Amino acid sequence: MLALLSIFQPNAIFTSPSRLCQITQQYWNKGGKPFPITKILLAGEPCSASQRSQIRDFWETEPHNLYGSEETDGLAGSCSQQAGLHFMDDLYYLELLELGTDKKVPDGKAGEAVITSLYSEGTPLIRYRLGDIIEPYLSQCPCGEKWPRIKVIGRSQQAFFLYDGIKLHSYQIRSALTSVYPELDLYQAVLRPGDDGVDEVEIMISPAITDTSQGMLEAIEETLWSSSLDLAAAKDIGKLRFRIASDEEMLMTRRGKTPELIDLRHGNEREFLKRNSG
Ligand SMILES: [Zn+2]
Repeated sequence: MLALLSIFQPNAIFTSPSRLCQITQQYWNKGGKPFPITKILLAGEPCSASQRSQIRDFWETEPHNLYGSEETDGLAGSCSQQAGLHFMDDLYYLELLELGTDKKVPDGKAGEAVITSLYSEGTPLIRYRLGDIIEPYLSQCPCGEKWPRIKVIGRSQQAFFLYDGIKLHSYQIRSALTSVYPELDLYQAVLRPGDDGVDEVEIMISPAITDTSQGMLEAIEETLWSSSLDLAAAKDIGKLRFRIASDEEMLMTRRGKTPELIDLRHGNEREFLKRNSG
């Protein structure tokens, strides 16, 4: 990858945040910025505040985020003042529904994104479920832009399927983590089979979080166990355990994304690389 970049010396780059952080770290290890890049576009996954600052500090230019899907292309772009993403409501109509229902969430609450394309003639999308959970901002953006502001929280269907049909959703993990670390932007949970027959969910949190006292980690674990009746019962049976770490490198797919949930019970470790970011 670095060899190709050195040959072409691009002045613009369009990739995922995880991939660019990996490239940035490699150039950092080699001694610094190899050539100037003036435009950076990021897409494919949410960009955390720590990833954004790592990229901005190294390349000395503000990265722009795009949010979209395979079916729609771009739906929203980052605000010039980094106050969220601006949704292009002149091209798409956005509804936010309660998970698994057709009921709208109350104003200002996060919900599953359902979109209707207003101008697509060849492939119209009518009330199409994107599978993403989006939270809207109700206040006017400080940048003055008229497009509404949104925040992408994660995928609605993302979950570990544990024994006996017990599910652990990504939003349950995120909500347990943010109950203790409200500023947390990035995490990854990896499910592995333990040698002792007990499945282990290792939760890696952003290295930007430095205060990881035992009490705080135990509070997160307790919130996770009590986040559903099934999990509370699983705790007593002893077929699952949690481990929370802030000093482990997260895993990245070979396509350059850092998924929130990775299930490694089926011997698929080779699909992932160490993210190697600071
Ligand atoms: Zn704005």
